Amino acid sequence: MRDFVYLAPETLEEAAALKLEHDDKAIFMAGATDVMIRMRDYLIAPDYVIDLKNIPDIGGITFSETDGLHIGALATMTQIATNPHVLAHYPTLAEAASFVGGRQIRNRATCAGNIVNASPLADTATPLYCYDAVVEIFGLPGRREVPIRDFIRFVRKVDLRPGELVTGIRVPYLADAKGIFRKVARRNEVDLSTVCGTVLRTGAGWRISMGSVAPTPLRLNKTEALLAGKPLTDALIEEAATLAATEVSPIDDVRADRQYRLDIVSYLVRDGLTKLR
Ligand SMILES: Cc1cc2nc3c(=O)[nH]c(=O)nc-3n(C[C@H](O)[C@H](O)[C@H](O)COP(=O)(O)OP(=O)(O)OC[C@H]3O[C@@H](n4cnc5c(N)ncnc54)[C@H](O)[C@@H]3O)c2cc1C
Repeated sequence: MRDFVYLAPETLEEAAALKLEHDDKAIFMAGATDVMIRMRDYLIAPDYVIDLKNIPDIGGITFSETDGLHIGALATMTQIATNPHVLAHYPTLAEAASFVGGRQIRNRATCAGNIVNASPLADTATPLYCYDAVVEIFGLPGRREVPIRDFIRFVRKVDLRPGELVTGIRVPYLADAKGIFRKVARRNEVDLSTVCGTVLRTGAGWRISMGSVAPTPLRLNKTEALLAGKPLTDALIEEAATLAATEVSPIDDVRADRQYRLDIVSYLVRDGLTKLR
């Protein structure tokens, strides 16, 4: 790993100013479970690493029925997976967080880092897509909010302007939601997703999101529209499972080939709809 200057700002303003000053030569760091691996492997070689962990008020998890769930940028996967509000109202998110890496990784890795890293297989992305989560952003010109579906633009590309950082993720409360998160990987523990997905029932409507099947996580809009307001017959489930595979564009890689991923998407949709019927 190349030498770098470690910076530890104590306010959002200081962090944003440091990033603006050093721009592409600097990188933010939260849990460092992606940053350090990429630095170790010389995929990136920043001159400055800006550690966000000393900034107060961007950690923690809060919930109310009016405001929904708020996940601070420093909240770890372990905190999310064990939080009573997340377990009670967003079990798909708790489940997704509990599948990230092993225990040591989950004790450090943040959900914000998982989203900013913008890997197509980020485990926490598909439940957040289903809930239409919103990413909260701070920059010296001010604060702004971006729906997660617009925030993640491509592999490792997100809607952050120079100097901006994520302060948290807001997840709306859906009183009648019931869902299932599934991660299909080559082994049960400590492996990256071959395909991950969330199927969420909200009253008469359905929300479906899949990861590791395109450059970004996806909502399956056509499949959701097909299902909307209709009784869930076996024939409709089969039609939805088939349609779902046409909405994704997976690639062959070391974890699986394209056809296997298409089959898994159909399987996850069929299985989710059947279990939530
Ligand atoms: C052994 C191992 C296993 C893993 N298994 C999984 C897995 O099963 N599933 C999975 O989804 N991921 C997995 N990962 C990847 C990683 O743990 C996650 O992506 C993690 O959530 C990243 O969070 P972090 O806090 O460590 O981010 P960091 O490494 O600190 O940062 C990641 C990226 O986000 C940026 N960033 C972080 N926080 C902010 C912020 N607040 N504002 C702006 N930018 C920010 C950083 O600059 C960097 O570009 C694994 C990693 C390892 C090393």
